Formats: sequence, structure tokens, C-alpha cells
Amino acid sequence: MEMTEDLIRNVIQQVLTQMGNGSGPRNGSGSKPSGVDGVYPTADAAVQAAEAAFGHYRKRPLACRRKATDCIRAICSEQAEELGRMEMDETRIGRLDHKIAKLRDAIPRVPGVEYLRTENWSGDDGLTLTDYAPFGVIGAITPVTHSLPTLAGNAINMLAAGNTVVVNAHPSGARVASEGVRRFNRAIRKAIGIDDLITIIETPTLESAAALFDHKAVRLLVVTGGPAVARAALASKRRAVVAGPGNPPVVVDATADLENAAKSIIAGASFDNNLLCIGEKQVFAVSDIFDRLMEAVGRNGGFRLNAAQIDTLTKKAFTLGDDKQHHVNKDFVGLDAAVLARHAGAEAPKGTEIVFGETGSDHLYVEHEQMMPFIPFVRVPDVNRAIDLARSSEHGYGHTAILHSRDTQVMARMGRVMDCTIFVVNGPSTAGIGLGGEGVLSFSIAGPTGEGVTTPLTFCRQRRTAVVGTMRFL
Ligand code: NAD
Repeated sequence: MEMTEDLIRNVIQQVLTQMGNGSGPRNGSGSKPSGVDGVYPTADAAVQAAEAAFGHYRKRPLACRRKATDCIRAICSEQAEELGRMEMDETRIGRLDHKIAKLRDAIPRVPGVEYLRTENWSGDDGLTLTDYAPFGVIGAITPVTHSLPTLAGNAINMLAAGNTVVVNAHPSGARVASEGVRRFNRAIRKAIGIDDLITIIETPTLESAAALFDHKAVRLLVVTGGPAVARAALASKRRAVVAGPGNPPVVVDATADLENAAKSIIAGASFDNNLLCIGEKQVFAVSDIFDRLMEAVGRNGGFRLNAAQIDTLTKKAFTLGDDKQHHVNKDFVGLDAAVLARHAGAEAPKGTEIVFGETGSDHLYVEHEQMMPFIPFVRVPDVNRAIDLARSSEHGYGHTAILHSRDTQVMARMGRVMDCTIFVVNGPSTAGIGLGGEGVLSFSIAGPTGEGVTTPLTFCRQRRTAVVGTMRFL
């Protein structure tokens, strides 16, 4: 039955294409605002198209949702090289090999329809079911640090849950985001005959983001980004899932496996040149093992800067604003470790993954979410002091913290004190999103609003059905 419907839709689409309507069959009444393959000029047009698409999608079985999300997974993994390069060329931050890995290796692990479930109670009074139903149209704001991966991961979760989505990408990653949306839509249309399950505003601005925030047809906002947009979403009247900023500290105590700690810190902090919100940003290590840890980092791909070199780098990597506050110099975000070394006046050997060095606990690189592969290491007298400094450097975001220790008391204390959405023990930060650790993957970690690592269930409404006095077959 479903195959027949799909076949008919595909035939209609082919006929329309041959008649010159290259953008395929249209949802709704035919008075659709101009947009091709999901890319629209305004927020209103993009929302209207996604709303019409939801009208069709909601009538379809789970098998269609699975096909739609499989299209996104397949495009990301099969076209990772081309799309990753596109993202690198446009955003000019991070590392090409990791941009490709995010699409090829990470996106296929984002959970889909299989994650949905129905809960039930069966007893003398009958059967009650709790189903997870879609909201409708979701408005998504995505960051420049992972423009297409965030969009693709959000779309898999949201479409699996039965929603459609309108995206306002970061202006500096908007071209690759639009290209992804075009490719996803073409494939989904071919697979299930519906257009516009994912729409995007072609030229995003703060105004278009605000229009999406306020649009009456948007049932839920999902915002992934830094402090300003997180604040705006939390202040919005619309219900919002907010994946905000972090500044993940690492604590290393005297019981830690130092070789594993050094390798893990490097793996997490070097990933995409430390653009990940979960990436290791500063390390507090106890003095007993501090020098041995520094030596292990140097042996495993870290290039150590001396105090004068760190000073030189810091003066360039932070600027003093009119507000008399220091701000991260955006031109330094996501630069290669070797380039940072050169800015510091040093030449890093080939194969350098991060640059690092010893700083005080009040250093700018400790206080700011710098998103660069320079990692400050702070020497502390004991682990309790390390945990306290880790907590203050995280600024109460409650995002991510990392510990290297074999002491379960320390694990428990740091877990409690940090109270973070993600707490990784004895591994790289990426283990917290299922890469080298257990659990599902997402690029949107919703700390401030409490949903945690987002999944299809994050984007569902619970609906209860009580069938009274029957349906118990015992
Ligand atoms: P950003 O805050 O500059 O931009 C994020 C998005 O918000 C963009 O689409 C931007 O156009 C939009 N935006 C910015 N200010 C806005 C405002 N006032 N109103 C409406 N829209 C606004 O962040 P970025 O540089 O793209 O990404 C890096 C930041 O995002 C870091 O702080 C990082 O920690 C955070 N991040 C968090 C997660 C998470 O899952 N929690 C994931 C990725 C990135």
C-alpha cells in the first residue's frame, strides 16, 4: 500500500519535472511561496512551506520517517568529503579531516525512529498508552562551529519524531547549510514524495532569527549557540530547547593514568581545533603529577609554549573591547595548532595536535571559551582545589566537565560539585556524546533547559490514551 502511494507520487513528480516544474510536486494548495528544494527567501515563507509539509508528513507511517532520516544519514556519510570541504571553505575554522569525520562517522549514529517508544500500563481497569507525538513545525538555530552536522543531526531527531523543521543557520555557515537542505529534500522527495520536511532561510540574519522565534506556526524552538542566542531563546515566549555555551575544565589527580589522560586531553581538545562545545578548554592538575603530565602531553602530540610565548599569543588571541572587557579574537577561533604556535613566535613540529603551556588560574585562556587548540595547564596543590577552580572556570553553564582519576571518591565529589550535563571520567570529552563512550550522539546538548543530549524523544509531546475496562488479555 505504502509502496503504491510512493510510486504514484514519484510518477507524478517525474511528469511534473518533464513539464518544466523542476522543483517537484508541491505541498498544499499550489499557492506556495517561491522556494526550491527547501531553500526560502524569508522566515515566513520557510515556515509556511514546513507547515504544509507537516500536513502531509503527519499522515504517513513510521516507515516513511525512517526512509526520510535514512536519506539524511546516507547523504552525510556518502558525500562527507565534498560537504566537509564545502563547510571548511566557507567557515574557514577547524580541521578538514574532522569536518569530514563529523558527517561520515558521527551523523549515521544519531538516533532515529528506533529511539521512539510507547509506554503502557495494563491492569484491572484496562490499558493506558503513552505515545510520543510530534509538535509540528520546529524552528532551529544552528552554530557556525558545526553548521551542517548540527542541522543534519537535529533534522534526523526531529523528523524521526514526526516534525518538520525550519532552520536559521549562522550567516558564516549558511551556504553549506542550504546545500545540505537542498540535497536532503531532493532525496526525501524521491524516497517518500514529500517536499520541504526541512526548510531553510537562504540568507539568515538576526532579523530572520527573530522572525522565526516569533512565528505563530512554530511550535518549538531549538537553539544551539553561544551566550547571546541562548539568552534570547530563554527570554522568548515560545517553548525552547536551549543548547548553550560551555567552557569544559579537566581535572587530573595523582591517581590518574597519566598516559591515558594526556592522550585523551589531546584527542578531545584537538578535535576540529577545539570547536566542540564539549572540548577540553583548560586543565587543573595536582602538583604531584603536574610535570609528568606535561611531559606526557609533549610526547603525544602537544607542543609546549614557554611563558613569554604564551604572553605573545594571548595578546593577539584576545582583544580589549569598548566595554573594557577582554573578548576572544574571532580570527583566532579554530586555527591550527601550528598557526597558533607561529603567532606565539615558535615553530611547532609536523604532527602537532595542540599547543599547551602552564598558566595561572585567572588566565584569559582559562576564563574564556576560547575554541582554539591552545590548552592552559594550571598547577594546583590538591584535588579539592582543582575541582573548585574547575567549577569557577565553568561559570555555572553546567555543560561539560572531565576528570582523570582512579579514585571513586574524587569521581563522586567532582560529579556533584560540577553538576554538569556531561561528565566524562578517564576519556576524551567526545566520549560524552557517544564517540568512544557509550550512549547516543547529538550535536545539541541542552543544558539550560534540561533536556541533556538531545534525542528524538526531546522533540515529542507525550500523549496518553486510556482504554477502560478492556484490552487486558490475561
Ligand atoms: P553564536 O552564538 O555566535 O551563533 C549561534 C547561532 O545563533 C547562529 O545561527 C547565530 O546567527 C544566532 N544568533 C546569535 N546571536 C543571536 C541573537 N541575539 N538572536 C538570534 N540569533 C542569534 O555561536 P557560534 O559561534 O555559531 O557557535 C559557538 C557557540 O555555540 C559556543 O558558545 C558553543 O559552546 C555553543 N555551542 C553549544 C552547543 C551545545 O550543544 N550546547 C553545540 C555547539 C555550539
